[in-house]
Amino acid sequence: MADLQATLDSIYADIQPRIGEGKVADYIPELAKVDPKQFGMAIVTVDGKVYRVGDADTAFSIQSISKVFMLTLALGKVGEGLWKRVGREPSGSAFNSIVQLEHESGIPRNPFINAGAIAVSDVVMAGHAPREAIGELLRFVRYLADDESITIDDKVARSETQTGYRNFALANFMRAYRKLDHPVDHVLGVYFHQCALSMSCEQLARAGLFLAARGSNPTTGHSVVSPKRARRINALMLTCGHYDGSGDFAYHVGLPGKSGVGGGIFAVAPGIASIAVWSPGLNKVGNSQLGAAALEMLAARTGWSVFGD
Ligand code: GLN
Repeated sequence: MADLQATLDSIYADIQPRIGEGKVADYIPELAKVDPKQFGMAIVTVDGKVYRVGDADTAFSIQSISKVFMLTLALGKVGEGLWKRVGREPSGSAFNSIVQLEHESGIPRNPFINAGAIAVSDVVMAGHAPREAIGELLRFVRYLADDESITIDDKVARSETQTGYRNFALANFMRAYRKLDHPVDHVLGVYFHQCALSMSCEQLARAGLFLAARGSNPTTGHSVVSPKRARRINALMLTCGHYDGSGDFAYHVGLPGKSGVGGGIFAVAPGIASIAVWSPGLNKVGNSQLGAAALEMLAARTGWSVFGD
C-alpha cells in the first residue's frame, strides 16, 4: 500500500490554506459555538494500522453519522423487517425535508434522512425505556471502537431539544400516520441524544472499521454483522448518506459515506480502510465542505473509489 501517512500529510497541506471555508450549522445553538478553523482526518486500515492528521483526536458532535450505528442496531433487532418501516431509496431532498413524508403516507424514504432515522430510533426503543435505548447505543459504539471514553454531549442534546422544531414536526407527522410506536417526545429524546454522540475522527474510524472488513472488526476480533449486511449498509451510505448531495459525493469521491451537520464525514473503502474526516464548515446541502474536498483528494491519490481507479 502507498505511504498513507504521506498521502494524508499532502492532503492536509492542500487543505490548510482553505481551513475555515463553509458555514458552521447554526440551527442548533450549541453547534454554532464550534470554532470553524479546525480540520482532522483519520484512516484505519483493515490490518489495524492507524494514520492521522490535524485535529484527528478532537471530539466533535457526530450528529447524523450516528444514524449508521442506530441502523446497524435496528437491523440486528428486527432484521429485514425494518424495511416495512423505512424505504431504501435516495430522497433527493434535504435531510430535514417533510414533503415526501406526506406523499408516502408517513414512511420515510431511507434511514439516513431525519424522518427515517427517527423511525429507526423508534424500532430500537421497542421494549426499552428511552434511557435504556440510548444506553444501548452508547455501549454499542464503545464496543465497536473498543473505547470506553466515548460520551454523549448532553449540552448538544439539550440545545437541539429546545430548537428541534422541524424534527418535532416530522415525528408528529409520522405519529399521526401511526408510523411511530412510542410518544414523540420519547423518540426524539433518543434521537437527539444519539446525534449528540461526541467522537474524534480516530474513534469514529475505529468504530466503523467493521463496515470496511466484511462485518468484523479485525483489530478487536469482534464479529458485528454478516458480510452481506455490511455490504448492504455500505450500499445505503453510497446512495443516501449525503442527502441531496449523495449523487455529487459519489461522483467526486466514489466511496460509501455518511455525513453529519457537526462537520464530520465517515467513509468506507471496502476491503481496505475506514476513514473519518472533520471540519465544521458546511456546504449548501449541510455536508462538510473541506471534509468532502479532503475525501475527494484521498480517493484520487489512492485509487480507492469503488468505481475503479
Ligand atoms: N441532529 C441533526 C438534526 O436532526 C442531524 C442532522 C444532520 O446531521 N444532518 O437536524
